[in-house]
Amino acid sequence: MSDLVELLREGLPEAAVVSDPDVTAAYRQDMAGFCDSAPPAVVVFPQTVEQVQHVMRTATRLRVPVVPQGARTGLSGAANAAAGAIALSMLKMDRILELDPVDRIAVVEPGVVNAELSRAAARHGLSYPPDPSSWESCTVGGNIGTGAGGLCCVKYGVTAEYVLGLDVVLPDGRLLRTGRRTAKGVAGYDLTRLFVGAEGTLGVVVAAVVALRPAPPPQLALAAEFASMDAACAAVCAVMAAGHVPSLMELMDTTTVRAVNAMAQMGLPDSTAALLLVGFDSLDPASDLAAVGELCREAGATEVVPAADSGESELLLEARRLALPALDRLGTTMIDDVAVPRSRLGEMLAGVARIAEDFRLTIGVCAHAGDGNTHPVVVFDAKDEEESARARASFDAIMALGLELGGTITGEHGVGLLKKEWLARELGPVGLELQRQVKAVFDPLGIMNPGKLF
Ligand SMILES: Cc1cc2nc3c(=O)[nH]c(=O)nc-3n(C[C@H](O)[C@H](O)[C@H](O)COP(=O)(O)OP(=O)(O)OC[C@H]3O[C@@H](n4cnc5c(N)ncnc54)[C@H](O)[C@@H]3O)c2cc1C
Repeated sequence: MSDLVELLREGLPEAAVVSDPDVTAAYRQDMAGFCDSAPPAVVVFPQTVEQVQHVMRTATRLRVPVVPQGARTGLSGAANAAAGAIALSMLKMDRILELDPVDRIAVVEPGVVNAELSRAAARHGLSYPPDPSSWESCTVGGNIGTGAGGLCCVKYGVTAEYVLGLDVVLPDGRLLRTGRRTAKGVAGYDLTRLFVGAEGTLGVVVAAVVALRPAPPPQLALAAEFASMDAACAAVCAVMAAGHVPSLMELMDTTTVRAVNAMAQMGLPDSTAALLLVGFDSLDPASDLAAVGELCREAGATEVVPAADSGESELLLEARRLALPALDRLGTTMIDDVAVPRSRLGEMLAGVARIAEDFRLTIGVCAHAGDGNTHPVVVFDAKDEEESARARASFDAIMALGLELGGTITGEHGVGLLKKEWLARELGPVGLELQRQVKAVFDPLGIMNPGKLF
């Protein structure tokens, strides 16, 4: 047995320290393609804060890198392990410790699955809004690590807006408490926010205080068909400019609609160039939808179909949630995540269509249109080297276009390994240098998920 495994076992149950190569191989990577990974030396499954502290003290003592992992549904390689590293799986710390309807907060361990928290909140007439499409599997710790978004973020915002306070085990094993459980609070630098989207490079989140909201009324949605992507984007702008506050505003192109139909026989209209889903969870969603339907028609919608009830609306949502798994069935995929100001969504998607043509590739598009957050999905044959190189180049061209349009290389999936070079371009030299210095304050030995972000 190696020194590392032996020392880890001094503070963790035997079953919580696994170095069997069949198991370590299973924890080597998340769901991103084109990213290096290797089986870690050992996978650990702590169940208490003290056990996480023991792991970090051991790692510091032996100078061994640690890769925190949630459900490994990430799409940027941020949870990928490296040879010799400890993969620190947080899946066994999965308790909801508190749910308080008066303070409207939940205190959760990081391994709680997003949808479980939502269901628990619903039992108290509350909701936890951040809702990535992967919500049935991804964890709150992973959502904090990536700063995850989702379908209802157009109205309710992203994970960062719901994280009030954190307990974090630092690389040297100290326990840091950040933030608050009060509705307001401005004491000192906002270290809580710093950890959101830090991709496990600063410390290990072992508990989070998250804000809950009153459960909204059931959502009603419509589906609008457009003969061009441009017209659909014009409708998005018209709806936002008119002051509407939709709780859902999602776009899918023909390729995506067909892929979803093929996977789940959803009966979506598959001859349309662009399908826009708009939903409201307001007090009078039917009249909001009527007004938005009119705006869609003025922008050129060929058909506007309101869902009959909230059940049918939920089916539309489900169809959108299936977009990525459905596109995955068309071949090997690379999912981009460029966000632009929503006023420039049309230019962005026209540019993506040009890139698909120039690089002779299929690029399916789905988008959190109300947020200007696009997910162009490059489909290619991984066995064909030349096509794979084209796919990678088209992925880069999409990010370059996003930056040109005043956007960001990642709206919600994070940088990980996949977009490291691009982060430097987005931040510029001063921003990058300061970010490196911040990392060194928390992690002077550089053992916390090294090689991610920059
Ligand atoms: C089908 C599909 C749909 C998706 N839809 C969306 C979507 O709509 N919106 C969206 O934002 N993302 C989406 N994603 C991406 C992914 O689900 C999110 O990035 C999610 O937040 C990852 O959570 P996870 O538990 O899988 O974390 P992991 O992938 O395991 O880890 C993600 C990052 O968080 C770090 N981390 C994990 N736990 C901790 C911890 N306790 N402390 C410190 N760092 C930690 C890891 O080191 C890593 O850097 C989707 C993915 C799939 C496969």
